[in-house]
Amino acid sequence: MIVTLDPEAVSEAVGRELARRGLWSQRLSDPRAGGRVQFLIRPGSVPVAAEELLAIDGVAAVAAAESPHPRLDAQPRRVEVGGATFGGGGDAAPVFMAGPCSVESPEQIFSLAARLAPLGVGFLRGGAYKPRTSPYSFQGHGAPALGWLREAADAHGMLVVTEALGEEHVAAVAEVADLIQIGSRNMHYTPLLRAAGATGKPVLLKRGMNATINEWLLAAEYCLDQGNAAVVLCERGIRAFDRSTRNVLDLGAVALLSREHGLPVIVDPSHATGRRDLLAPLSRAALAAGAAGLMLETHEDPGRALSDGPQALTVGELEAIIRATPARLATGERSGQPSPISSCASAQS
Ligand code: PEP
Ligand code: MN
Repeated sequence: MIVTLDPEAVSEAVGRELARRGLWSQRLSDPRAGGRVQFLIRPGSVPVAAEELLAIDGVAAVAAAESPHPRLDAQPRRVEVGGATFGGGGDAAPVFMAGPCSVESPEQIFSLAARLAPLGVGFLRGGAYKPRTSPYSFQGHGAPALGWLREAADAHGMLVVTEALGEEHVAAVAEVADLIQIGSRNMHYTPLLRAAGATGKPVLLKRGMNATINEWLLAAEYCLDQGNAAVVLCERGIRAFDRSTRNVLDLGAVALLSREHGLPVIVDPSHATGRRDLLAPLSRAALAAGAAGLMLETHEDPGRALSDGPQALTVGELEAIIRATPARLATGERSGQPSPISSCASAQS
């Protein structure tokens, strides 16, 4: 909320009144205020009614900050995709997505699906189109791999999540996938966000490795603005100064978006760390932070994986993580209603 003062108001006195009510405020200098003093009531402050603020001596107006992502705000808190439920409170079971980094062959993906489905893995993952750092690395088998993935999933009653790397892949991916994945490197690429959104299919939107939370939410808004069914967010680590792990898993963002704002967020600890030995503790931590599910790269023979072998779990390791996971999510702990996600907004361009 933005509080605008009367021209003759004593701003220090108003500031004290705001603090007395337990509100964190920040004095703004907005030229549009015509020289009047304004205070922003910061996100995380105790809830307060506009009327109570208007009653403070010297306060002329109180305005709710306009949300930059109205469609995301309006998205139901509980998102259903093909019978899987993401978020929306404490009674849902965590959603597991697992499979190889790349779909390497029909045999590979059929054999893996047969072993993952009985573990309770709802979504079979695997890239047909791979975003690789080097043009000389394996780039994925393309369209044929989409067909293998779908057939393998269908044979075992699983859903499919797979990445559309470019606009030219969107139609083919939308045909086979239950959830269209937009990768970290593409989160900022608005033509792809629009194209995926226009299919009407739900989107799994991975966080850009350099994206702020606000940029991530606005990328979701691009998809929803084109009429797509729903967006599930996926935290997969961001770039920071320490390269001991592949990225830095931002569990603060997960707690903020899931617990405070009620959004469906899952976590991909595989790309966040690049190390299979860290996936069990970080899976537990992600679910404790409020993640609605986990995406874990899994391979029957990680040493021979065509991409991302060092972070791939064996099926046995995945099974141990799933068995150690509580059957119900702990997201219902927070009392009260989710706060509006507009309060995440910061400067944008
Ligand atoms: C992936 O999940 O296959 C992938 C490439 O992940 P990210 O976009 O997070 O790097
Ligand atoms: Mn990978």
